Amino acid sequence: MTFDDLGLSPDTLKAVTDAGYQTPTPIQEQAIPLVLMGRDVMGIAQTGTGKTAGFTLPMIDILAEGRAKARMPRSLIIAPTRELAAQVSDNFVKYGKYHPLSMALLIGGESMQEQEKVLDRGVDVLIATPGRLLDLFERGRIILNDVKILVIDEADRMLDMGFIPDVERIVSLLPKIRQTLFFSATMNPEIRRLADKFLMNPKEVQATAPATTATTIVQAIITVRPEDKRECLRRLIRAENLENAFIFCNRKRDVDIVFKSLIKHGFNAVGLHGDMPQPKRMEMLAKFKTGEADLLVCSDVAARGLDISGVSHVINFDVPFNSEDYVHRIGRTGRAGKQGHAVTIATHHDAKSVAAIERLIKQTIPPLVEPAVEDLKVGASSAPSEDGEGRERGGRGGRGRGRDRSERGGRSRGRDRHREERPAREAEPAAVAAVEQTAPTPAPEQSREQSRAQEHQSDNDRPPRKSRDREHRRGREHRDKWARDAGLMDHDDDVVGFGSAIPAFLQTAPPRPAAPAEPTPTNEEE
Ligand code: AMP
Repeated sequence: MTFDDLGLSPDTLKAVTDAGYQTPTPIQEQAIPLVLMGRDVMGIAQTGTGKTAGFTLPMIDILAEGRAKARMPRSLIIAPTRELAAQVSDNFVKYGKYHPLSMALLIGGESMQEQEKVLDRGVDVLIATPGRLLDLFERGRIILNDVKILVIDEADRMLDMGFIPDVERIVSLLPKIRQTLFFSATMNPEIRRLADKFLMNPKEVQATAPATTATTIVQAIITVRPEDKRECLRRLIRAENLENAFIFCNRKRDVDIVFKSLIKHGFNAVGLHGDMPQPKRMEMLAKFKTGEADLLVCSDVAARGLDISGVSHVINFDVPFNSEDYVHRIGRTGRAGKQGHAVTIATHHDAKSVAAIERLIKQTIPPLVEPAVEDLKVGASSAPSEDGEGRERGGRGGRGRGRDRSERGGRSRGRDRHREERPAREAEPAAVAAVEQTAPTPAPEQSREQSRAQEHQSDNDRPPRKSRDREHRRGREHRDKWARDAGLMDHDDDVVGFGSAIPAFLQTAPPRPAAPAEPTPTNEEE
């Protein structure tokens, strides 16, 4: 099939040819004729499949007829992040170059007055993030009664980001008779519920099976000790035949740390996370897009849906907590038929998350074969100790703990070389056990019973129920007070776990000394 077969106008086809596209992608083949027919469409497609052109191209032709009135947009595209919204707007510019369509981009972090001025002139296409759109609506700056086409892009990410109530409110403000196009990279019951609510008799189109990874991506995983992750990252960057890379961290805080650490070690990196002011985010992104920087350290939210072609590598500095994020992350590489590489740096603590990812993608991620990082691997023979790390590396409280490997010199490397190496994946059952032992969850029922039995030789020796309840209450109050004092009750929403403030009763080893040359979450010099 060619673009000529899809029913697009000559002007739009000319813009497609100018963009250098030879043939439509599968999602475009399916979606474009349906959108032109005025059908509602439910598209299951990841970024990188060409889905943006799949809805932009036919919209341009539909909107070519008619004129926009002041403050009354004729179509609305809701995207979860500013970058994604900006990208959709770039697509309209690229494909709509032979059409005199007016467009407004409403995203947070940019001047509201400017956006209001554009709206006042009347727009055919309004592209917005949910929060800013509602803000302007509540100020009476937009009238949504004339929206004929609604696009909800990356619905699953909206769900992850807690935007669904906003999206539901926005949709409730639109005319009931409209065309709705709904895109999601993955499908789950909540997404299905929303689709049923927003769409009328939709046609479902799918680019790839949900949550599958492109075959053009070579995946690999390496399991290292937590304190070796940055060293591993640096060696990977140097050793892998890397042109440029997205480096993903789970937390905004770690984006900063890894970014600054890379800069300190002389790498050409930029960082991107949701807390950065918008101009800074755009500047960082532009540096990466133009090749001024080769490494983009980012969080999932900031990088979601970013369309940057020709990225040779994705490195997961952290294993994502949410398995679907893995699919989204590695989808940044291996685009448009090119080969990409996705390397995940894991620790023993990630065994459960890795298993969940492998269940989702229905494949085992092979262990990384890379001589430059071989000695950093935590092998199966290093039976996890209670803190989830290999004993022969110093075990509990061993001397080298927490220090940069490069500083520790050759001794530990030599020892590691003699260790029997087995693929990291084989270590999983032990690793799962280690995670369970270190997790701040109550001890299993059996061991609680055993310890009770030791304390009170028989059930008759146990304190009366009232006094036990009192003890438990005191224990709870003590824990809550401790958590408040340690600042754990008011952490950021994306901070998971205890961070560096591991309570004494959870520690199985003495706290590690701060590594002088390596950034740590609390090291301001980083
Ligand atoms: P998207 O999935 O919309 O983020 O698009 C991913 C990338 O594919 C973008 O860089 C588009 O420019 C590119 N693209 C879209 N359609 C085609 C096509 N038919 N042929 C080649 N590249 C395309």
